[in-house]
Amino acid sequence: MASVGQPGELPSAGPPEVAFAGRSNVGKSSAINAILGRKRLAYASKTPGRTQTINFYDLGGAARLVDLPGYGYARVPHTVRAQWRTLVGGYLGSRNSLVGVVVIMDARHPYTALDEQLLQWLGDARTLVLLSKADKLSRTEQRHLAREFPDALIFSSVTRQGVEECRDLLERWLQQAAEIKSPR
Ligand code: GDP
Repeated sequence: MASVGQPGELPSAGPPEVAFAGRSNVGKSSAINAILGRKRLAYASKTPGRTQTINFYDLGGAARLVDLPGYGYARVPHTVRAQWRTLVGGYLGSRNSLVGVVVIMDARHPYTALDEQLLQWLGDARTLVLLSKADKLSRTEQRHLAREFPDALIFSSVTRQGVEECRDLLERWLQQAAEIKSPR
């Protein structure tokens, strides 16, 4: 629908939006594609330091999916980091139609300092944490993970573990937003 590099270029708010955020290479594009059931709707430039954009996808006019730029490249130039903050901060701080943010983390090392930073950034926005690439963990490791982070969803784009649960949850978010907007 739109690809935006400047806070001033954001499309005007319309139907409820769910945003996706995560460290670069954590599996965000794969998760978006698995959740939407598309092969290559979301694919990010993998070159660190490239211009970063927020990408908006229209979901049949009833909702929007918002792909926030990846963050946390080790060697990203200072200017790009500043641009990320301006762009994403501008979006998060002003978006009334945002119903929640899906935060993707790597199940093998979740809640890194950068992940925590992002969560702090999101403030009181509703969040759902996906622990991605769970197919790389053993059953025992997954059990421990579930016990340690009961509110997070163990997820794999490869095996599609957690995909249906994630969809159901996002549908509930969007449904609630629609109900608030048009009370009976
Ligand atoms: P993004 O940079 O966060 O958008 O990450 P991508 O979706 O492009 O994925 C980064 C790399 O991780 C790619 O090589 C993917 O094939 C791989 N990947 C993504 N999701 C999974 C997953 O659930 N399981 C496994 N094993 N690999 C994954």
